[in-house]
Amino acid sequence: MRIASLGSGSRGNATLVQHQETTLLIDNGFSLKQFTQRLQRLEIDPRAIDAVLLTHEHGDHSGGVQRLCASHDIPLWTAVGTARAALAPGFEYNRLVAGQTVTIGGIEVLPVTVPHDASEPLQFIFHQLDNGKRLGLLTDTGHITSHIVEAFGRLDGLLLEFNYDLDMLENGPYPEMLKRRVGGKHGHLSNDQSMDLLRQIDTSSLGCLIAAHISEKNNARHLVDKLIRQLDNVPEPILADQEAGFGWITV
Ligand SMILES: [Zn+2]
Ligand SMILES: [Zn+2]
Repeated sequence: MRIASLGSGSRGNATLVQHQETTLLIDNGFSLKQFTQRLQRLEIDPRAIDAVLLTHEHGDHSGGVQRLCASHDIPLWTAVGTARAALAPGFEYNRLVAGQTVTIGGIEVLPVTVPHDASEPLQFIFHQLDNGKRLGLLTDTGHITSHIVEAFGRLDGLLLEFNYDLDMLENGPYPEMLKRRVGGKHGHLSNDQSMDLLRQIDTSSLGCLIAAHISEKNNARHLVDKLIRQLDNVPEPILADQEAGFGWITV
């Protein structure tokens, strides 16, 4: 299994997970033109995408999903609540239910409920069926629940949100209401919250760790890098970028 990103952050997210002949796209917050340009960097044809999985309705994840699915006839998978909030009435999709796995090609997908200020937000764990490798995606989460700790342990790869540094958020340029939203229980994961998760889960099999959805205004990449390197039971982090995303990483 391998993973790549077309961009990560509040101005747009799109992540690819691929195993042999199966290519899944998680979210697309980019216009069709932007998406196509970014996809070319990875040398993937849009027609090779077998399914789009939509985590929740916020524009940085859902903005380009419907247009992309319609123009390339790609099946869409999402929760009912997300479909109601993000899609035009009548737009076809396959229903995802938290805790119920679906198998798409050679990848089994487990949707996991997370606390976030959206209708029915999900994050995912991907299970490569032929050799059992597991890759987790966790962004847009307000706080760490015991359910998350249970679901995200013993992974081979993890893409984890490091959204903000608390001091930078408090002293930063966001209006008060937005500060409270981002820092609230249904906002985003701070560096400290994500570090806590890494301390709580079993990381003994973790071969790759990607820090993602890093705020450009309320966080600093060198801070995230330094924090993660303090842990001696996790691999050296890869930092996802808003513009560049990251290239293919094998899990
Ligand atoms: Zn987001
Ligand atoms: Zn969100």
